[in-house]
Amino acid sequence: MNVRYQVSAPPRAHTDATVFFLPENEPIRSAQITSILEHFPSIEAALASSDASGKIGSSAVTYVAERSRTRKIVVVGVGDTATLTAERFRRAASSGVRMLSGTARQCSLVLPLWSPLPAEATAAAIVEGAVLGSYRFTRYKTSNAHTALEQIVVIGSERSAAIRTAVEQAAIVCEGVYLARDLANMPANDLYPESLAEYAKQAGAEAGFRVQVLDKRKISQLKMGGLLAVNQGSTRPPVFIIMEWRGGKAGQPPVVLVGKGVTFDTGGISIKPAERMGEMKMDMHGAATVIGTLYAVAKLQLPINVVGLVPATENMPSGSAYRPGDVITFMNGKTAEIDNTDAEGRLILADALTYADRYKPQAVVDIATLTGACVIALGHVTSGLMGTDRSLLDRIKRAADATSEYVCELPLHDEYLEQIKSDVADVKNSGGRPAGAITAALFLKHFIGSYPWAHLDIAGTGMAPKDGAYTPKGGTGVGVRLFVEMLRTW
Ligand code: MN
Ligand code: ZN
Repeated sequence: MNVRYQVSAPPRAHTDATVFFLPENEPIRSAQITSILEHFPSIEAALASSDASGKIGSSAVTYVAERSRTRKIVVVGVGDTATLTAERFRRAASSGVRMLSGTARQCSLVLPLWSPLPAEATAAAIVEGAVLGSYRFTRYKTSNAHTALEQIVVIGSERSAAIRTAVEQAAIVCEGVYLARDLANMPANDLYPESLAEYAKQAGAEAGFRVQVLDKRKISQLKMGGLLAVNQGSTRPPVFIIMEWRGGKAGQPPVVLVGKGVTFDTGGISIKPAERMGEMKMDMHGAATVIGTLYAVAKLQLPINVVGLVPATENMPSGSAYRPGDVITFMNGKTAEIDNTDAEGRLILADALTYADRYKPQAVVDIATLTGACVIALGHVTSGLMGTDRSLLDRIKRAADATSEYVCELPLHDEYLEQIKSDVADVKNSGGRPAGAITAALFLKHFIGSYPWAHLDIAGTGMAPKDGAYTPKGGTGVGVRLFVEMLRTW
């Protein structure tokens, strides 16, 4: 998607469509209508209709005949300016571009001067909503009547480097989200550990971060027993992907992001039911988020050192698969009894959390489609947040507020440890149904180093069961915007 900022009168932006924002409160609403009519006097009837109320969710669509095209004009409501937020602009911009319903190649969106937010924040929110809302996963469609949006132009009246930069940076963050969505949506016959590593290398080459891929031999040498155990049933070898962005001072300890990369999760011997098992192609969404984040961070040239770690494998049942009752030994020497082979994500993350310690990081955040229990608790709206360090958890909450990628903290009380005690090993990999998101995190806590640590469970938020405000059905790219915001304000 080509995205840019342009200073001009709205009609002079030569696009197939133009989107205006309209508040519901007077006198701002009337003033905005007057200004739209100055540019497009022929649409007076449409703006006099109740469709142009300015209420949240309202929209008016009309057309203007021009010499070379018929331009679509969309007016979307954003509600009362007194309570206006970036999120309302994201949603309105998305519904604005969706009104074009596959008929426009270029769309301009007019930056409202009456926005109570700083102009840069308004512009960034509009770009995010418009770009993210028009995402489509079409890689496997051989015929497609849909006209894809190719260009988004934010129209302003002020020559401002700050607004231009805000637009460009928001577009880069959206590229990271697109990358994460594409990877999450790709089917497991094409997206498996080694191909995931290739996509990470491609992203690194394009954005300018370093990518190193450890193969099975190296993983065995490192004694990553969790990753190897989960991989046992698969004919595809595991990989351990290491991504490094050195934007900060030499010697500055990095922030390490760890993403679960189970490219397909059948559950293994503790096999899942057939219904909706196909969704488990997205069990590498944490990995997709980390790759998308590194891509955006490098393209934004953020002045901070960031390392991304992705342990990747399939979880398959077969004659060689690991079994319930097995005891496995991890990279840090600890042992776990396997109670359920479908609780595999924590096993591969355990080794990655151990590996992270060699960077002496200032913080480690892992992100994973980890537990069905988290989906039951928080649905598809809010990610589960857990961790050991108050200031790190607060950073993540602030980034969540700024991006509306909601998180909710769950408690890691020691009392829950009882559920994952093993008779034969240091710990058991499943604590049963009660507090399943929490016992998963407490399992991970056994493997962290001396660094501040937080864990995001995106089992619900990684996969949209239906179209959302600016998140089409499928892989959501959740966490990219949150992580970039966290790192940008570090
Ligand atoms: Mn599983
Ligand atoms: Zn899984």
